[in-house]
Amino acid sequence: MKSPFRSVSRLVLSAVVAGGLLASAQAADAQSLIRDTEIEEILHRDADPILRAANIDPKDVQIVLIGSKDLNAFAAPRVMGVFTGLILETKNPNELQGVLAHETGHLAAGHSARSGEMNAAGMKPFLLTMGLGILAAIAGAPDAAAGLASSAGYFGTLGAIGFSREQESRADQAGATLLDKAGLSGEGLAEFFDNFRYQEVFAEARRYAYFRTHPISSDRIEALRSRVAKLPNYDKVDSPQAMAEHAIMRAKLDGFINPGVAITKYDEKAKDYPSRYARAIAYYQLKEPERALKLIEALLAEQPDNPYLWELKGQILFEFGRAPEAEAPQRKSVSLKPDAPLLRINLGQTLIALEDKQKVLEGIDELKKSLLREEDNAVAWRLLAEAYDKLDQDGLARLATAEYNFNIGDMRQARVFAMRAREMLGKGTPEWRRATDIVLVAQPTREDLRRLGREGSSLTHTH
Ligand SMILES: [Zn+2]
Repeated sequence: MKSPFRSVSRLVLSAVVAGGLLASAQAADAQSLIRDTEIEEILHRDADPILRAANIDPKDVQIVLIGSKDLNAFAAPRVMGVFTGLILETKNPNELQGVLAHETGHLAAGHSARSGEMNAAGMKPFLLTMGLGILAAIAGAPDAAAGLASSAGYFGTLGAIGFSREQESRADQAGATLLDKAGLSGEGLAEFFDNFRYQEVFAEARRYAYFRTHPISSDRIEALRSRVAKLPNYDKVDSPQAMAEHAIMRAKLDGFINPGVAITKYDEKAKDYPSRYARAIAYYQLKEPERALKLIEALLAEQPDNPYLWELKGQILFEFGRAPEAEAPQRKSVSLKPDAPLLRINLGQTLIALEDKQKVLEGIDELKKSLLREEDNAVAWRLLAEAYDKLDQDGLARLATAEYNFNIGDMRQARVFAMRAREMLGKGTPEWRRATDIVLVAQPTREDLRRLGREGSSLTHTH
């Protein structure tokens, strides 16, 4: 999203190209993975009926949000990617569901075999997990940016898989069937492609990448229209709740990604929730926290049980150097939504920033709870390292740093920190064994192995 990612992501991407996994470099645009509990939940509510119709358990599918202007989406085994550009270009949930159904159609028809090639090549997506607002802060940390870029490169690659016209029409048909089976209209599917009919006349280079890899033609759109119109659920419309959630998701993304535009796009006098939400976020991004907080207070007066408003309030206070004030709103967001790890990470981050040992210990507890649900959350590991450091628990701090590096895919640093952690942790303790595990899975050098051998380390994995 921010420029620091660009150069790194090109580097990583060229490595992918050199590996022969990517036919073209179309995915070279800067992309970043974005985490946001509210948007992820809305996307799941949009996608789940379609996944179920395809006999896929939604619990097995992680939906990832990719920050990119491109209109794109992809479905691979266990992961569905949705680009922010696509969300912002879909007029209603049914259009978004249409694209997701089309992509699920590719998956169901076995078209994304290339993702299998990537798995075979050992390319694991390292999900760098962060809230929309934390991206800017992380941009100053080159190691985190590198991890982020390697993930984004991976997802960019999946999103850039090209299909033949025949495969496209098969995915359309499968998508239409899935939508109907899910009790949804296929109109949005036809409508979305129709909205971009003009792309057909553009030269390859001027097209959105999505339409370079998913060619559209008038014939295809007509075939799709006549097919979906015949299906029993064609006249179904989006529920008012789905419409409202779609508007909230778009408003949130507009506020975070295009704050300068959002401040004029959403009218100051508008009374609706999405407009005021977008403006609050935009003011926060434009570094006007007081104006943002004033708008949020008004929204909270109407929706005192909305965990995301409390999350936003806490986030703003924390980022503008008011950690003690951020504690209460973040506690409130966690109490309203105790199962959401990202909300706990926010609370943990605030608690460990306070000058109070008891609070730091409590913050460690919150971070650990979030890791029970998301053990690969790199940001939580990084904060945990910071907290242990603050308490002079050097061995645990090194171990958390090793975990952090492991989860952003930096195996060399993971190994180095795990080796240091082993020297400081009590031999045979669970933490010491975990450090040993990391050394063993993070491509140990011969020297590392000799050292482990001298100590008679067990090679059994504990997880
Ligand atoms: Zn397609």
